[in-house]
Amino acid sequence: MTDFARSRVSEPQVFDVLVIGAGPTGLACAIEAQRAGLKAVLVDKGCLCNSLFHYPAHMTFFTTPELLEIGDMPFSSPNQKPTRSEALEYYRKVAEHYALDIRQYETVDKVTGSDGDFTAHTTDRFGRSVHHRARKLVIATGYYDLPNYLDIPGEDLNKVHHYYNEPHPYYGLNVLVIGGKNSAAIAALDLWRHGAKVTLVHRGEAMHRHVKYWILPDINNRVKNGEVKAYYRSTVAEISEDAVSLDTPEGPVTIPNDFVFALTGYHPDFTFIERLGVQLDATNDRCPVCDPVSLESNVPGIYLAGVIVAGERTNEIFIENGRFHGKQIADDLSAKLREPVTT
Ligand SMILES: Cc1cc2nc3c(=O)[nH]c(=O)nc-3n(C[C@H](O)[C@H](O)[C@H](O)COP(=O)(O)OP(=O)(O)OC[C@H]3O[C@@H](n4cnc5c(N)ncnc54)[C@H](O)[C@@H]3O)c2cc1C
Repeated sequence: MTDFARSRVSEPQVFDVLVIGAGPTGLACAIEAQRAGLKAVLVDKGCLCNSLFHYPAHMTFFTTPELLEIGDMPFSSPNQKPTRSEALEYYRKVAEHYALDIRQYETVDKVTGSDGDFTAHTTDRFGRSVHHRARKLVIATGYYDLPNYLDIPGEDLNKVHHYYNEPHPYYGLNVLVIGGKNSAAIAALDLWRHGAKVTLVHRGEAMHRHVKYWILPDINNRVKNGEVKAYYRSTVAEISEDAVSLDTPEGPVTIPNDFVFALTGYHPDFTFIERLGVQLDATNDRCPVCDPVSLESNVPGIYLAGVIVAGERTNEIFIENGRFHGKQIADDLSAKLREPVTT
């Protein structure tokens, strides 16, 4: 292939603000920037709300619909808590209503330039490079792309998954779920209800206290009844094609196994954030250094939004509260971009 074919023509226009990540927070940032009269563009490595799209197919949010709203657009649902597909539909409608400029399936690899003239270098799904120029940048890249690996033998087998989608392919099979929080509890229950033989392994004494109050008794009762076999204070030592080896308080145990769901959490792409020059506070769970009001980082012109603001504490900021970052950033952007240029 020629160099010409691998490289798409860069856009001549310079945006006021480029938002990396078209999740709920990124959308809120672009909407608030547009409302402030600024020209915004969003770039996402996947589809609109890529993380939500990859959540379990039949999931129900923990949050009531109004707490997921952005851009003052009502989110109505017949359910007390909306489903994943309702949320995806809602965010599509919001994007349409505000005529957001979203470049999907473009991964931002690096950023060059400085405050007032940044260039985001992206790669599209055909491997072609694209450049977008913007005066300011907002990073809203979430945490769902990078699983917390266990680093144990066999984790690289193709029967091991770090994301749970739906139960049907596991009917009648021996499935191990690793983890003690909501994702593990929900997956274990869903798999068991659809005919899988489920074993749960968690290093804690019991399921985590953060498991939602309506899920916790359900999983605890399944364990009590022996419908889901749970090993607490236990870890997985090794995964092989047909078995898993566990370290339990009673000593090593090996059980037959067909599939493993290692649902042990995810983390932000700290390397990407640092490559932009943004410092991470090692004394504060690697929170990116930023002004708490404007959310501008230590790099002038680069703002942080959404769950990444809390560093490794990925359960501190979610859609409910991250959606307000858009207004905080837009207030600062509109003040700064309207300042007279000094010569
Ligand atoms: C199963 C599950 C259930 C949840 N339920 C709730 C709930 O009920 N209520 C609630 O408030 N929160 C809930 N959360 C948490 C919530 O979904 C996240 O906190 C939220 O999505 C964070 O929003 P965000 O916009 O910061 O990041 P994300 O939604 O993760 O968006 C980040 C985007 O950035 C893109 N991206 C990343 N890197 C790049 C790159 N280099 N170039 C281009 N694009 C990039 C990604 O593709 C993604 O689309 C849940 C999470 C999970 C896993």
